[in-house]
Amino acid sequence: MAVIRDPLRGRERPAAPSHTDAEIIDRLLTVGAARTVVLAGAGMSTDSGIPDYRGPDALTRSPMTYQKFLAGPLERSRYWARSWVGWERIVWAEPNAAHRSLAALGLLGTITQNVDGLDRSAGVQNVVELHGRLDRIVCLSCRRTNSRQWMQDELTRLNPGFLDRIDVDPRDIEVAPDGDAELEQTRGFRVRDCPVCGGLLKPDLVFFGETVDRGVVDNALGMVEQADALVVLGSSLAVMSGLRFVRAAAKRGALVVIDTDGPTRGDELADMRSLSRTADFLTAWSSAAGRG
Ligand SMILES: [Zn+2]
Repeated sequence: MAVIRDPLRGRERPAAPSHTDAEIIDRLLTVGAARTVVLAGAGMSTDSGIPDYRGPDALTRSPMTYQKFLAGPLERSRYWARSWVGWERIVWAEPNAAHRSLAALGLLGTITQNVDGLDRSAGVQNVVELHGRLDRIVCLSCRRTNSRQWMQDELTRLNPGFLDRIDVDPRDIEVAPDGDAELEQTRGFRVRDCPVCGGLLKPDLVFFGETVDRGVVDNALGMVEQADALVVLGSSLAVMSGLRFVRAAAKRGALVVIDTDGPTRGDELADMRSLSRTADFLTAWSSAAGRG
């Protein structure tokens, strides 16, 4: 995952919201849905039971890096064992009111930093998944993709009795937004390689230390270039891959709104600032737009 260890922890909270949500929503209605782009972060999915990296329940964990993943079979075995355990938690997650309201608004586009696919499931159109998607895997050699569920079934087949051996109840294990479970004993977990070419299989998402695909970034920037408003929802903008869109919107004079319940790296660029919960803000917005 393209996530860095909390550079914001310890910073002051923003002093106060700059406007009421009603004032912010009025401005957004004036701009219009067809000229508005959302940049969505982990705050969108917390109500679906997917933890935020930086929320109060955030895990202290070192995320898998692309370099580690490539380093050798032991690291990959560790990654897939943890992902195999975490998957069951992620796969059952369902869209919440935030995703449904976002879908109802029918915006110009949504750039999401989440890999859970819940915006897509809720029917949000024109989504750019900046950090990839958890429900797909890709072969690093032949680039063929396959469903993550196929990988899950293969891993289950290859590792009978694994949980009994390590004597862990999966319900007691913490899971991160990218499906990585806090599991220490991963020795002996068998990994599946590409059925076509024998290459390494990787989740089709952007690990920390990996660059976001240029084409994906260009798609997202293209949306921002057509927008008169950019609304950041539930993201602290801790990663550059998100902050750059706020900079692009501010540079071209678009209205920049940030609704996130803590400090963000984009606060100085925001025209309007709210600290409301993502679902509350989106529900109010879509209902004011007559779409709730
Ligand atoms: Zn392959």
